Amino acid sequence: MKIIIIGGVAGGASAATRLRRQNENNEIIMFERGEYISFANCGLPYHIGETIKERDNLLVQTVKGMKDRFNIDVRTKNEVLKIIPSEKKLLVKDLNKNEIYEESYDKLLLSPGAEAFIPPIPGVHSKNIFSLRNMSDMDKIKGKVDSGIKKAVVIGAGFIGLEIAENLIERDIKVSIIEKANQVLAPVDFEIAAQVHEHIKEYNCELYLEDGVKEFIDIGDKTKAILESGKEIIADLIIMAIGVKPENKLTLEAGLDIGVTGGIKVNHFLETSNPDIYAVGDAIEVKHLINNKEVLIPLAWPANRQGRIVADTILGIRKKEYKGSLGTSILKAFELTVSATGLNEKILNRNNIPYLVATVNRNDHASYYPGATPLTLKIIFSENGDIYGAQAIGYKGVDKRIDIISTAIKGNLKVWDLQEIEVAYAPPYNSAKDPVNIIGYVAENMINREVETFRYSDVESLSKDPNYKFLDIRTKEERNLGTIENSIHIDLDTLRDNLHNLDKNITYLVFCQIGLRGYLAYRILVQNGFKAKNLDGGYKLWNYTKLNQSNKDIFDEDDFKHKEVKCCNNVSELIDEEKEIHNNIKIIEVNACGLQCPGPILKTKENIDSINNGDRLIIKASDPGFKKDIATWANKTGNKLISVKSENGEILAEIEKSSQLMENNPSKIKDAQTMVVFSGDLDKVLASFIIANGALAMGKKVNMFFTFWGLNALRKENYSNPNKNFIEKMFGFMMPKGPNKLNLSKLNMGGMGTIMMKYVMKKKNVQSLDELMGIFLKNGGKITACTMSMDIMGISKEELIDKIEYAGVANYLGDAEDSFSNLFI
Ligand SMILES: Cc1cc2nc3c(=O)[nH]c(=O)nc-3n(C[C@H](O)[C@H](O)[C@H](O)COP(=O)(O)OP(=O)(O)OC[C@H]3O[C@@H](n4cnc5c(N)ncnc54)[C@H](O)[C@@H]3O)c2cc1C
Repeated sequence: MKIIIIGGVAGGASAATRLRRQNENNEIIMFERGEYISFANCGLPYHIGETIKERDNLLVQTVKGMKDRFNIDVRTKNEVLKIIPSEKKLLVKDLNKNEIYEESYDKLLLSPGAEAFIPPIPGVHSKNIFSLRNMSDMDKIKGKVDSGIKKAVVIGAGFIGLEIAENLIERDIKVSIIEKANQVLAPVDFEIAAQVHEHIKEYNCELYLEDGVKEFIDIGDKTKAILESGKEIIADLIIMAIGVKPENKLTLEAGLDIGVTGGIKVNHFLETSNPDIYAVGDAIEVKHLINNKEVLIPLAWPANRQGRIVADTILGIRKKEYKGSLGTSILKAFELTVSATGLNEKILNRNNIPYLVATVNRNDHASYYPGATPLTLKIIFSENGDIYGAQAIGYKGVDKRIDIISTAIKGNLKVWDLQEIEVAYAPPYNSAKDPVNIIGYVAENMINREVETFRYSDVESLSKDPNYKFLDIRTKEERNLGTIENSIHIDLDTLRDNLHNLDKNITYLVFCQIGLRGYLAYRILVQNGFKAKNLDGGYKLWNYTKLNQSNKDIFDEDDFKHKEVKCCNNVSELIDEEKEIHNNIKIIEVNACGLQCPGPILKTKENIDSINNGDRLIIKASDPGFKKDIATWANKTGNKLISVKSENGEILAEIEKSSQLMENNPSKIKDAQTMVVFSGDLDKVLASFIIANGALAMGKKVNMFFTFWGLNALRKENYSNPNKNFIEKMFGFMMPKGPNKLNLSKLNMGGMGTIMMKYVMKKKNVQSLDELMGIFLKNGGKITACTMSMDIMGISKEELIDKIEYAGVANYLGDAEDSFSNLFI
């Protein structure tokens, strides 16, 4: 039998060698239009960056090797121009000799791959614009880089785009990435990509999201990219990496079926619409293993797997089905690793498939063993336990978790079966409960309704719904570093003691840093009769999505940016350097790697407390949020952040203990005013609102906490609650209803004094109490009604004015701590 293969790289070469191993007698010819076969296209970006130093290491197999070891007739620089299925013939062009010849076949395998998609943008054929698919593309790009260029633009932030960007940065080139979507890396969802966006900011890399190129213009030896937003970037090198499209021209012209995606249509046995022609790799359309929909999955694993399977089918040895692809993929994005398998939320939403999501934030191995780094693992599943997909991001151990879940999907495991995965454990490698086990526990709890969660994407809409209240159960130190607006604060460890301050009619949207303590708080609340939901992935995940996702215009401010961060290679180098400069100061070194927030901050505080003014602390942490947190902490506490740098998933910060006075440092002046309005007397409530409006005008945040008689000022005049018991009705009847019914504390004289006071105020153009209240609320002042006093006095929410908040004393005390003065009226 004579078997011809078109395409000599992943799918083609895999099939060729298997064909030979299975049968010594067949004639096998492999056509490749390029110069090389079986090269490592996945390694191309890394040779540009010189991580892979030797070019030859990319050449996995040679023409001679294929001949000597496998007796395969490999014809490089031979391009198949036409397939004539009716005659089982091909027209081939020998690019070396520039000659066209015919070749016949008994069986034909197509593995022509996919080509870079180049959109018809004006100027796109500039000499400075490249795409990366093969060795020759790589040589051209590397040649340009080696010539000492300074600036590059990468269009498209998919896997190849980011890999190229990273490798160009490795070569000290300033890179601007332009991406049309609102996120990088389409296979993962926004909250995972948001972590990559934040990470990119640490490098010499601009990121323009939701922007595209509308024109390229050559200017001398450079090219200007004009973006849709109007931004213009001049670069020495431009890489087009906006995706690939299947090489289907030959197939189309041969009259074979093409699928809806543009890929060559094949059945489960990789047979095309012609019985003697087969196809594999990037060029074919496959069924997605989860939803059985047609997709293009241009990845190396499917191409290699299909190549092997199809060889047996061609030879008639056994017909093995290609079951479909999951699209399991992984990327080194600078120091981070990002990986995904199965379907993501965007695709599920597009196909109206309902799903649940669980996210866990853990360390890659036991946190007490050195070098532990954080890892976020997300799983998407159905109510009946089917796993739809998973995504992970972190510094280490990401591949292991996604590979396990991809195996679980292929083995038809349910999400709760992930609890049963028996992992190899010793502290340097893992924890006794792998993140995959934990996500199985969380998912099962969700399915069993033992925990109810809300997502980062729900926060905005829920914040507008009066039936919900955010409850921050982290420590004071964590909250100081940022929180969800209008949340109340009760540290988890004091939650049980504060339950009486909470309201059973409200659903508490509990959040902690990573979701674990939130779950504990959730269990306490629901078992005490409260309604609650826990924030999936915690504050940390939500916070990533709220940051500025782009990284624009950084190159103009380069010098400024680099002033902030002092570079150092490692802790001991930094210490030696510092010791030389300041040999009279004490420097202590602390390792907080493996600790999740607030661990590193608490360690910082504990150690700063133990040293003298002017001494320094060098702390190493692996929590990525620490970089920002330490800056905020230093700013709030008046200590001096000397430098902060991240490397290999570790953050290194140097802090000088300082006792600067608040007044010397305006950024640390407390900017809030709080007051307890206990009194229900007109003059006292008036005075409180005059002070409160004054404080607002000075730019302070103001919280007025109304308790006991003060609540009367907040009552609506015309509302009576029919559901009150006798005592509550009596109370309600005896107490004044609203600002207009309050009396003076002195000289009231049966109401005469109050009338006189109001008259004088009007005459002298002093605003009335309800006007002052309206102004206060309009200008963003916060009024909080004490839920405990409301309960005692039988006052319901419906009786009080709108736009106010309800909380207990913990919330008020939290605000009072940030306040420059606190009044009791
Ligand atoms: C820069 C880069 C990085 C990548 N990184 C990864 C990665 O990290 N992980 C991963 O899973 N995948 C990665 N991929 C994708 C992976 O390389 C492909 O999925 C895989 O190579 C597809 O194999 P294939 O055989 O279908 O096509 P290819 O490997 O592209 O081979 C097709 C060959 O067919 C030849 N050909 C086409 N038409 C003709 C014709 N008419 N006559 C003769 N020859 C022809 C082409 O010249 C080409 O060499 C990467 C791809 C690139 C370009």
